[in-house]
Amino acid sequence: MNYIKHLFIIIILISACEKKSVEEESSQEEIILVSFPELGSDGPYELNKVYNGVGNYTTYYPGNSPIILSAPHGGDLTPDDIPNRTWGTTVTDTNTKQLTLAIMNFLDSNYNIKPHVIINNLKRTKLDANRDKAEAAQGDISAERAYDEYHYYISKAKEKILTQYNDGLFLDIHGHGQNPDGFYDLRTWLGYLLSSSELDQSDEELDTEFDISESSIYGLVNKSPEKFSEILRGTNSFGNLLEERGYQSLPSIVSPSPEGMRYFSGGYNTYVHGSAETGGSISSIQLEMPAPSIRQNATQWNDFSHALSEVLIIYFKVHLNIDLIN
Ligand SMILES: [Zn+2]
Repeated sequence: MNYIKHLFIIIILISACEKKSVEEESSQEEIILVSFPELGSDGPYELNKVYNGVGNYTTYYPGNSPIILSAPHGGDLTPDDIPNRTWGTTVTDTNTKQLTLAIMNFLDSNYNIKPHVIINNLKRTKLDANRDKAEAAQGDISAERAYDEYHYYISKAKEKILTQYNDGLFLDIHGHGQNPDGFYDLRTWLGYLLSSSELDQSDEELDTEFDISESSIYGLVNKSPEKFSEILRGTNSFGNLLEERGYQSLPSIVSPSPEGMRYFSGGYNTYVHGSAETGGSISSIQLEMPAPSIRQNATQWNDFSHALSEVLIIYFKVHLNIDLIN
């Protein structure tokens, strides 16, 4: 029995060796150190080139504008050598990879604005790029590598933006589905790291009592001529600018707060890559789009990309005094 077990482990080792370069084995059946290229060895990252990480699990399109688009939950790759994650959420945000690429292409084709774009190509059953590493990759070395590359590419995009602009905006692109009771909220949920109950506060409370450094748009709030409550749900808020283009959004003038309804306030990426964590000048917003009228087909992706492009142009001008169109 013991012999068979050993044989089995050795067979696993041999098959692992075929897929990954084994640098060192301290003993035949205990520790395998797999070597990957050093992070950044595929750089420097040049405009109009595309960078795919190890296994093509992560894709980075470098940009030249102060916008970063991140799609952590839209991948569809299910390589056999990465085991399925055994805990946490594994639901794919359907078509968010395609939607993100459509936004990138629309901005570029129509306005010559090139956002930095980072895509996780792995299905969420293999990697969740919007969680801390332990939950995201659950100990698998290939998934951990993809995770490291994902966040490394974002960090390089942020560095580039800070050399070209004083400010930037990171958008984490997601999709939300039906509530557990079957109700489908057709609004786009914008997450600024304010909880539902915080958004339920009055404008005056938000403007005088809320600690804005806890918001993912702290950097932008410091630059904007508008009050915090206006930036969240006033005329020139991200949500209201989307509403004016036919996309119901929360928060906005029409929907100032969740009022007890299900809502996502922003996850790991919105926290670590925006200004809540760093106090820096790159802000972040989590965008949670419903499927109907936004994510279902290429026409919808294009129409939404058109609206979002206009929103971004106005938003940057009003709040950061940056002209995205030269
Ligand atoms: Zn998601």
